[in-house]
Amino acid sequence: MSCIFCDIISGKSPAEIIYEDDKVVSFLDVKPIHFGHILVVPKGHYVDFLDIPEDNLLSLIHATRIVAGAIMKGLKPDGYNIFSNNGVAAGQSVFHFHMHITPRYFNDEIKFMLNLKNYKETEMKKFADRIRQEIQ
Ligand code: AMP
Ligand code: ZN
Repeated sequence: MSCIFCDIISGKSPAEIIYEDDKVVSFLDVKPIHFGHILVVPKGHYVDFLDIPEDNLLSLIHATRIVAGAIMKGLKPDGYNIFSNNGVAAGQSVFHFHMHITPRYFNDEIKFMLNLKNYKETEMKKFADRIRQEIQ
């Protein structure tokens, strides 16, 4: 099975590495939303957010915060987004989990096209119950 992020981690493919520790590597996204858009990736091949062991996830969050701070200090954008796409329907295209961190600027014309819904009377509780019952 080939994976571009595993290839970057092993040094087989090039990347502009920004941060690395024993569990995480972080590098520039090759097709950035804005210049300085960075990916934070666990060194182990985990497919999505729910697949990562919790200690690796904590390392990933730790690294994400370091990198976000460095983006803010180094590039001085007006803000930043942190997000991850999980599953094809959510826009995931590389199936090795990663966090995106992208700088944002006032008036940068980047918008999520949302069609916000309204719950009908009892629906809100029904949805909450379906999710709540799965929490141990
Ligand atoms: P996603 O669509 O959320 O799975 O994000 C995958 C991201 O990986 C995209 O933003 C791509 O631009 C980025 N990407 C794919 N190949 C490479 C690569 N070789 N080096 C850096 N970033 C990459
Ligand atoms: Zn991989």
